[in-house]
Amino acid sequence: MTKHIFVTGGVVSSLGKGLNSASIGLLLESRGLKVNLQKFDPYVNVDPGTMSPFEHGEVYVTEDGAETDLDLGHYERFTNATINKNCNFTTGTIYYSVITKERRGEYLGKTVQIVPHITNEIKECIKKIASEGVDVAISEIGGIVGDIESQPFLEAIRQFGQEIGRKNVLYIHLTLVPYLKAADEMKTKPTQHGVSLLRQAGIEPDILICRTEKSLTADIKNKLSLFCSVDKEAVIEEKDVKPYLYEIPILLREQGLDRIIVEKLGLKADGHNLQEWEEMLDTLKNPRFSTEVAVVGKYIGHQSAYESIYEALTHGGVANNAGVKVRRVEAEDVERKGSERCLEGVKGILVPGGFGERGIEGKVLAARYAREKEIPYLGICLGLHCAVIEFARNVCGLKDANSTEFDRHTKDPVICLLEEQKGVKNLGGTMRLGAHPCQLQPDTKAFRAYGKESISERHRHRYEFNNAYKKLFTSKGMVFSGLSPDGNLVEIIELREHPWFVMAQFHPEFKSKPTRPHPLFREFIRAALTTGKAVEELAYGRSALNPKS
Ligand code: GLN
Repeated sequence: MTKHIFVTGGVVSSLGKGLNSASIGLLLESRGLKVNLQKFDPYVNVDPGTMSPFEHGEVYVTEDGAETDLDLGHYERFTNATINKNCNFTTGTIYYSVITKERRGEYLGKTVQIVPHITNEIKECIKKIASEGVDVAISEIGGIVGDIESQPFLEAIRQFGQEIGRKNVLYIHLTLVPYLKAADEMKTKPTQHGVSLLRQAGIEPDILICRTEKSLTADIKNKLSLFCSVDKEAVIEEKDVKPYLYEIPILLREQGLDRIIVEKLGLKADGHNLQEWEEMLDTLKNPRFSTEVAVVGKYIGHQSAYESIYEALTHGGVANNAGVKVRRVEAEDVERKGSERCLEGVKGILVPGGFGERGIEGKVLAARYAREKEIPYLGICLGLHCAVIEFARNVCGLKDANSTEFDRHTKDPVICLLEEQKGVKNLGGTMRLGAHPCQLQPDTKAFRAYGKESISERHRHRYEFNNAYKKLFTSKGMVFSGLSPDGNLVEIIELREHPWFVMAQFHPEFKSKPTRPHPLFREFIRAALTTGKAVEELAYGRSALNPKS
């Protein structure tokens, strides 16, 4: 029988429930348990796919093509859980399903209510990740206790615990213990209030994870334990670990969190093995080499808008025993100030995915700078589109070349709408989404990176390379190194006469893990470390590199 952990948050949002859920998943896996994870987002949107990255950060795409919350990216990076459509539900999806059933007459004329219909629907969603063989299902409740929209979710997880038996369920509450400088004191009151709100919802937390700037004194721990009715050893301290997010599981384990969970749930899972993770962390914290790459995007000021990209760059660094410094460049700044001022000195340039016209010309300039200065370039989705536009204009002489996303009537639509997108009207969930197979051409940089012919990668786009230009571009030095199995869609393009210029129509960042760096990120960073001036400046040669995978 699957045991359940529910993770709630109090006091303020953004305390890292996702990272903590993922860390708990990793710790349980390190004890040989099989875990699954999911997140409930209490907002009304059906999914974050149509939300602005400024509003919501990155949209994370699963293998089966769900557009989801970025916390699912943490789940996949930390654990081996199967992350799919069943791992992210919102108030929107829950109501959508209940209303659809009501319209079909499935409630047999009953009055449809939040309790029991909405709460039952939430409980059904929880059960979806408790499939055969799963020892522990971890469900994270987004937002914080006290939010109006969280109420049905709290009621559902309360009922769930009651139904499957309290000993089969753990409630873990993430909270903030602030330090007041003027009083030189840590304050437990916000946590007490958060826990009292949980209690009003009928939930007694079993474990408190306390985000804090300073260590919790024994006194504070005692107070929290007493006032919140949580065992003393189950008051866990979590100090800021930035920039090493991957340290969180280690911090939690040092305080026995996984042991406490296993004991409280009555699971048999002695011993643990985190060796691979610890080795990764060691390389991350003490890299032998270093490099700097630029990410040229349009949500640069927003920390989480390119979450998986930044993480995958870090992983690429780990694979090469290198620390990767990221220069975050606003695409419009490149338009205003020029490439040289924004990009001078970087050893690699990455243009990530994106939508809409703002900043496009800056990204085109960045691609040009990378091509002309022979700086390694990794273009992802829109980053491929921009580099293709640049190549068309400046190498092939097609001065007006563009994507029909930005100029519907361009004379040279080198990037155009996918055939399957032509009658699509609704915005939500209608892109080419999720994993698709791709065949790599031998003797290309892409093939050398992956070391195999057949790969599968995740997509999220409506536009693609226009095959009418393939012949011309090939004659000018473009190599179409990855194609869909039927040969109709271009998935990877590279430049022959360049140290490392690779563009992907898919999103490799979604499949990169700290312990399994994605081949394209690994090779991009390797190229950044070994091309041009970088070699002399770092005073080591190619042979000195000893990538781990
Ligand atoms: N806007 C482009 C498209 O829809 C690129 C999307 C992306 O970068 N994910 O095809």
